[in-house]
Amino acid sequence: MTLLEKTSTSPDPEDRSMAIRETLRNAIIDRRLAPGTKLSEAEVGALFDVSRTVARAALQMLTFEGLVKTERNRGAFVSHPSPEEARQIFASRRLIEPGIVTAAVERITRDDIARFREQLIEEERYINDRGPAARRAEIKASGDFHLMLASVAGNAILQRFMDELVARSSLVIALYGRSGVSSCGHSEHFAILDLIERGDAKRAADLMLHHIDHIEADLDLQPKQGVALRDVLATG
Ligand SMILES: [Zn+2]
Repeated sequence: MTLLEKTSTSPDPEDRSMAIRETLRNAIIDRRLAPGTKLSEAEVGALFDVSRTVARAALQMLTFEGLVKTERNRGAFVSHPSPEEARQIFASRRLIEPGIVTAAVERITRDDIARFREQLIEEERYINDRGPAARRAEIKASGDFHLMLASVAGNAILQRFMDELVARSSLVIALYGRSGVSSCGHSEHFAILDLIERGDAKRAADLMLHHIDHIEADLDLQPKQGVALRDVLATG
């Protein structure tokens, strides 16, 4: 069972819940677990060899992050975010990320910049490979760029917001992204990093806003239902 490979075997129930959450979270974000998949406490407990209480705690954390939806009497399922939720996620990112970029300009070190460049080269590799596994890896790698910036910015609370927003964005991009389009404009990541390196906080923050607009514009968030018949059939 590939889900179990990276799960810690610490005896502490809280550690176990955290490790299960992490494993399920990765599986949801890279879509090994599709939206709508049932996540029963009993099954999660059995798979990871933990009590239902430990499994429930893990599912509650994922519910809190918006990756899992819990329905009364039906249990927990992998979320299927609506187009409206998707828009709210990107609206939140537009509020938070320019501030993160500004803080990162103040705090970033030479070593950080070198790490970022390595990360971007890795990302480029996935973009050039067109298979579905590479596509999943690319969505994850492009989210990692934003998370690395949040960690450099040095605000633990903002970093937690970003963990949630990037996780939810990855799910939305996997669901609504047009195939063949990079989830994050890759050259924009390089350009943002260049501006940060030069200490140009204003332009780096502006470009980040522009970049988030681009990611959202690449999604197909038009409602598929509710089209008025008369509009479709109107002859003039
Ligand atoms: Zn990006």
